[in-house]
Amino acid sequence: MNRKITIIGAGLVGSLWALLLRKKKFEVDVYEKRSDIRLDVENSGRSINLIVTSRGLHALEQAGLMSQALNLCVPVYGRMIHSVSGDLVYQPYGQANERNLSISRTSLNKFLMTEAEKAGARFHFEHTLESMNFHDKSMNFTNGQKVDYHLLFGTDGAGSLVRKNLIKAFPLDYSEKTEWLNADYKELFLPHPNSLDTKALHIWPRGSHMMMALANLDGSFTVTLYLPQKGPVSFESVRSDSEIQQLFSGQYADSLPLMPNFLNDFKKNPQGALGTVRFSNWIYQDSVCLMGDASHAIVPFFGQGMNSGFEDCTQLLEILNQKQTWFETLQTYNERQRPNANAIADMAIENWVEMSEKVADPQFLLRKKVESILEKKFPEIFKSRYGMVTYTLVPYQLVQKAGIVQNQILKELCHNLSSVENLSIENAEKLLKNIYTPFLNEHKIEFKMNGL
Ligand SMILES: Cc1cc2nc3c(=O)[nH]c(=O)nc-3n(C[C@H](O)[C@H](O)[C@H](O)COP(=O)(O)OP(=O)(O)OC[C@H]3O[C@@H](n4cnc5c(N)ncnc54)[C@H](O)[C@@H]3O)c2cc1C
Repeated sequence: MNRKITIIGAGLVGSLWALLLRKKKFEVDVYEKRSDIRLDVENSGRSINLIVTSRGLHALEQAGLMSQALNLCVPVYGRMIHSVSGDLVYQPYGQANERNLSISRTSLNKFLMTEAEKAGARFHFEHTLESMNFHDKSMNFTNGQKVDYHLLFGTDGAGSLVRKNLIKAFPLDYSEKTEWLNADYKELFLPHPNSLDTKALHIWPRGSHMMMALANLDGSFTVTLYLPQKGPVSFESVRSDSEIQQLFSGQYADSLPLMPNFLNDFKKNPQGALGTVRFSNWIYQDSVCLMGDASHAIVPFFGQGMNSGFEDCTQLLEILNQKQTWFETLQTYNERQRPNANAIADMAIENWVEMSEKVADPQFLLRKKVESILEKKFPEIFKSRYGMVTYTLVPYQLVQKAGIVQNQILKELCHNLSSVENLSIENAEKLLKNIYTPFLNEHKIEFKMNGL
């Protein structure tokens, strides 16, 4: 097996993959477009917060980093819904012991880079990949350097140049499909001290737009505003100081006193696009393989972009341990992970509707309560789709299928149900035994938990 590995992109996935490969004694060189973020003092402390869930934690555990990573995280136990009038409704994520973890993307990236470097990976910063020659296995960087590779992993994010080079070189074999969301995002900052509960993901659902806030370790919050690009309430229509003020005082009034700098943040911070990228084939022979956002960028509403990218790493590692050649390893990875990536991409788009619209809908809330009762009464059989994505390692593709069967059962149980007190447990048990258990058995689904 080839022992010389090249990685393009030292983001979350590239850095973790470099570390895992070093643990297996591969020689690893990582080329990264940016300068070393660990030396960037100006931007330290401000970053998107990510939710780390079972799949991400499993990968960190495999890398031997679990306890150190947990020290960088803030636990989050549920959603706190803020209505327009400022009323609060709390929805726990799952059962009492189930929680998510919030972590700063930049802190995690720095931590993974340092650990990979300590393990012996060589990082080459300020190296922007420009073009590739797949026949003589060489790549050109924008600084004029030409470097040969043996086996190259493209972890260069949603706009991957490795992916684009594959399409350019083999247009008949490779194609990508990008669906842009009609909403963009902008980060804002909510400083400490404040009155928000740090143990909740705060959501201000407003139909076509919404705002979310996740706590940082110091008690401040990173806030993300999701707003359509065009339309009556949109980035296009909210531009002047008075329009921005009006949006916040009308829709997000309870957050206003907590964000003294929101106007400045709104005007200064970039507007980010959100999209889903599906790529037809993630590998080229036994010499190129894509992972993370480079092969499957998804919208962030299930909190699974990084988690699914980390799962690429653990899956590849598992397959690598079973196969004799890179060719077999990459083939199996490509066949196994692509359907899973498509499934989480679909579910993430569905969650945009759930988070922006449905979390405030009484019928939806009733259904969530029924789900929660089923989880409590039948823990061996029933775990909600959200719970399966977030707290288990069941492949996304199977979770998506399970969700369809669950929908059928929940629809029947909620039909004409005015209050959760009237739920017939007998009927629920019958439906689960007749419809759901055979499905679980057929697909050999077990709820492998991840020590959350
Ligand atoms: C608002 C928002 C919220 C999110 N929330 C969550 C969440 O809660 N949970 C979750 O799991 N995920 C979340 N995500 C998704 C998560 O951020 C991404 O899935 C994750 O960062 C992907 O990691 P990656 O390493 O594949 O790509 P990236 O993090 O994009 O890293 C790619 C790296 O490649 C480098 N690079 C790019 N081009 C080149 C080139 N030509 N040459 C050399 N280097 C190059 C880049 O500089 C970068 O360092 C969120 C995303 C957004 C936008």
